[in-house]
Amino acid sequence: MALKTGEEYIESIRRMNMQIYYMGEKIDNPVDHPVLRPSLNSVRMTYDLAQKPEYQNLMTAMSPYIGERVNRFTHIHQSTEDLRNKVKMQRLLGQKTAACFQRCVGMDAFNAVFSTTYECDKAHGTHYHENFLKFMKYVQKEDLVVDGAMTDPKGDRSKAPHAQADPDLYLRVVERRDDGIVVCGAKAHQTGIINSHEVIVMPTIAMGEDDKDYAVSFAVPVDTKGIFMLVGRQSCDTRKLEGGTIDVGNSEFGGVEALTVFDHVFVPNDRIFLNGEYEFAGMLVERFAGYHRQSYGGCKVGVGDVLIGAAAVAADYNGVPKASHIKDKIIEMQHLNETLYCCGIACSSEGTQTPAGNYMIDLLLANVCKQNVTRFPYEICRLAEDIAGGLMVTAPSEKDLRDEKLGPVVEKYFRGTADVSTENRLRILRLIENLTLGTAAVGYRTESMHGAGSPQAQRIMIARQGNLAMKKQLAKDIAHITE
Ligand code: SF4
Ligand code: FE
Repeated sequence: MALKTGEEYIESIRRMNMQIYYMGEKIDNPVDHPVLRPSLNSVRMTYDLAQKPEYQNLMTAMSPYIGERVNRFTHIHQSTEDLRNKVKMQRLLGQKTAACFQRCVGMDAFNAVFSTTYECDKAHGTHYHENFLKFMKYVQKEDLVVDGAMTDPKGDRSKAPHAQADPDLYLRVVERRDDGIVVCGAKAHQTGIINSHEVIVMPTIAMGEDDKDYAVSFAVPVDTKGIFMLVGRQSCDTRKLEGGTIDVGNSEFGGVEALTVFDHVFVPNDRIFLNGEYEFAGMLVERFAGYHRQSYGGCKVGVGDVLIGAAAVAADYNGVPKASHIKDKIIEMQHLNETLYCCGIACSSEGTQTPAGNYMIDLLLANVCKQNVTRFPYEICRLAEDIAGGLMVTAPSEKDLRDEKLGPVVEKYFRGTADVSTENRLRILRLIENLTLGTAAVGYRTESMHGAGSPQAQRIMIARQGNLAMKKQLAKDIAHITE
């Protein structure tokens, strides 16, 4: 049986022996930790929805490799329809969680490693594709969450990996043994790592011969000896320790990132997908980044749907749903959000088959998708804050609302339209705060800028893929220029 229930997923994470630290303390059990649990709930949704018949087409797919229906997050894309369904699934999950559901990095790493190992084997006679297929079938059968780890700390950005003052600033092989390799280093901003069973490590930039030891890709369980994680702070995260449901904005769902340190971690031979073939590092990065830039045309749009809805509800509660400028702002938010969706669908529809047989997005369009994502969610946030009003950041706490003496004051002075409770008005404003400034802003706002690569990374790809020479020739032809 290749599909786990949400509950089975939670229990499987509970059984792991991960080394997790948060605010200077070791967390024995992330599953029941009030700050970490919402992020686990978001991943759980990828399992819960896969159990529902109405979502079967989006959330699951037939795996030709194990001959069973698998969760789409473990699927190797077999067509452009698969690519489109991936984006639609991500939009759906964004709508259901209003958070980062974290499981996409593994899916994107899967599809990038699948095709790159195939091409590396053809060039070098290595057996990485075979290693990857074995791992992939295991993940599909067990319905596991796999984190995709690409971003090294990078130190001095002007220097190559081998030229850094501290050699660990890019993850590298420190020992080669008959039975495998030993690696040291770290991966930063690891989305969902503490909610994952396995991690696929990949290089983060194109590399030269001197960087051979850094050109490494592999997969290991997240509780492998030598791996430990430092969970990042998020704006307003400790509100989750207060026990209420209003001030957190989204009490059930969230996302999580962590610095993941690899301190002499052993990787057995059959889990290695790249080991020194430096000229394939760039291909792996480009493909993973391309898939993840497509992903943002789905997940961010789904979360955007919730934010647009929240802004419209706030307008209703303020008594201004018919004001023409409010209607226009909500139209603008929708226009921006659907433009992102168009990009996600377009780069999927224009996808092509790789030599390994899976499908890859159109790289130029995927990069355009992400470039727009670095801008539009900011404007959507701006408009949501405009519509919400200043109360979204000045409202008293839930404790005041529940207080015998202060509660009636809050009730009286923060009511909008008479037929809506003050509590409901505060709830929707706190949700907007959460998405634009709070814990979810990590996954919606700032991640829109830097997740899947910062804006300049896409501009480099647009320059490379844009075929300017062809466009110049078009102009010369029309202008009858012969040189
Ligand atoms: Fe998935 Fe979006 Fe989170 Fe990336 S940011 S893991 S694409 S939900
Ligand atoms: Fe991301």
